[in-house]
Amino acid sequence: MEPKYKRVIIKLSGEALAGPDGHGINTSTVLTICEQIKEVFELGVEIAIVVGGGNFWRGRSGEGMDKSTADYMGMLATVINALGLQDVLEELGVPVRVQTAIEMKQIAEPYIRRKAIRHLEKRRIVIFASGIGSPFFTTDTTAALRAAEIDAEIILLAKSIDAVYDSDPLTNPEAKRYSELTYIDVLNQGLKVMDSTATSLCMDNHIPILVFGLNEPKNILRAIMGEKIGTIIQE
Ligand code: UDP
Repeated sequence: MEPKYKRVIIKLSGEALAGPDGHGINTSTVLTICEQIKEVFELGVEIAIVVGGGNFWRGRSGEGMDKSTADYMGMLATVINALGLQDVLEELGVPVRVQTAIEMKQIAEPYIRRKAIRHLEKRRIVIFASGIGSPFFTTDTTAALRAAEIDAEIILLAKSIDAVYDSDPLTNPEAKRYSELTYIDVLNQGLKVMDSTATSLCMDNHIPILVFGLNEPKNILRAIMGEKIGTIIQE
């Protein structure tokens, strides 16, 4: 079987890297995720990763702080995660480059769109760190923007939950699970999948989003093969 997609963005939240610890980086969790990524990379899929920072810091963690400063702290948190992922992927023998939207050239390349595409063509994974480099945005918006820029076919939004629900299934056993949604459904119903900026950017650029759980060990592979898992959000 051939993979359904040739070029994808995988969005990993910071929380996904924390695993059972709930905070920071859990090395065995990161290893499991990277092994899955390696498996699909070896099928010939071009993979760019956008990583979040919520396992260390989110803009909203800085209550009472200047919002922009708190957001810059969040962007720096994503860089820590990107370096952690880079290290594990390299250890597994996968070529990888980190690009940051805020220049810090001693530790990573600056984000240059054409260079990122070149890396993908040369069979390297690219990790986009520090969001889009501006406060008041999220790494979900970063995933949407980078997907549009590099012409990715889909955003694979790997979550700790297996699909989109109308309310939290952990607290509401009646929560409705969706297997398909439109961008407008997400926006109108205020579903907590992505923020509205990210959702509208995907809508305007016709980029589908597949929301699925990282809990199942083969889910990244299943997503790439086009299996019907999680929730697909499109027109
Ligand atoms: N952030 C930002 N601009 C961006 C991306 C991220 O200001 O383009 C900040 C924002 O404060 C955000 C934090 O970085 O809360 C970490 O990113 P995010 O919350 O998206 O991470 P995740 O929830 O995916 O772990």
